[in-house]
Amino acid sequence: MELPVPFATETVNVYLVKGEKLILIDTGTKTEETRKALNHQLRELGYTLSDIDTVIITHHHADHCGLLDDFDEDVEVVGHPWNEPWITKSPDFIQRYERFYENLAPQLGIPEVFLKKGPSMTRTLIYSCNRSLTHAVREGDFIRALPEFQVIETPGHASTHIALYRERDGLLIGGDILLDRISSNPLLEPPYYGEERARPLLQYNESLRRLAQMPISRILTGHGKDVTNVKELVGERLRKQEKRAGIVLEMLKEKPMTPYEVCVKLFPILYDKQLALTISETVGQLDFLEYNQQVIIDSSSTQWTYYAK
Ligand SMILES: [Zn+2]
Repeated sequence: MELPVPFATETVNVYLVKGEKLILIDTGTKTEETRKALNHQLRELGYTLSDIDTVIITHHHADHCGLLDDFDEDVEVVGHPWNEPWITKSPDFIQRYERFYENLAPQLGIPEVFLKKGPSMTRTLIYSCNRSLTHAVREGDFIRALPEFQVIETPGHASTHIALYRERDGLLIGGDILLDRISSNPLLEPPYYGEERARPLLQYNESLRRLAQMPISRILTGHGKDVTNVKELVGERLRKQEKRAGIVLEMLKEKPMTPYEVCVKLFPILYDKQLALTISETVGQLDFLEYNQQVIIDSSSTQWTYYAK
């Protein structure tokens, strides 16, 4: 079922699976339009919301789990354990996220005016839910309601991201891991434990390479059409990313810069309105260059400067 969402993708795909139980994979946002569309499409298939026994969420973004509050209390909610602080809107976690971003922003060279605009990283939580998981799943697990599918962890776009793989025919329920028309952004997230943040773009590339090695016949995606040419598309996405990293490296060869300065040059139109997204993407490219030992970071002052090697 394709549902409208108030995000750039405009719609999200959710999947109804009829086995011994009725399962919904992902939900759409907590918005009236989404709610109406879901109820209407379920009715056309002969069901109502209360017929659903289990909801599985592929990751914690509001377009995938926001409508969870609408489901009956006894519905099983399944996903990666790190969804929990997001889907419960844990005040401690949100505060930690804000603090993480406040500490990171000056290091990245982000001007203070952006911080004064408010919590840009958590803005989409208004479209999300306040609900707990009933079952947490990790790499290799099977979900009772969906016995043929095995959980594979696919971090990068979100560190909570899982996909569901059926070995028998190579079908993958893929969430946002690989989309037909658009590349999924690796988003900066606070660390779930310890002090060090994850390197989302590096994780994302790793997840993509893993998919390319699996005999996947079809991906049922979170947005847009199914993907059937997995290896080819992964190759395309990795090449495109490497090309963008090359552009960043050329910029740094001309002049050492802060991540924010790179971001402004890389996204001259978008950076102002979509700083959270564009700075995540920029940091991703810089992480990639750092990992490949193509840049040196001067972190001796509050504001970090990147030099091309
Ligand atoms: Zn997402």
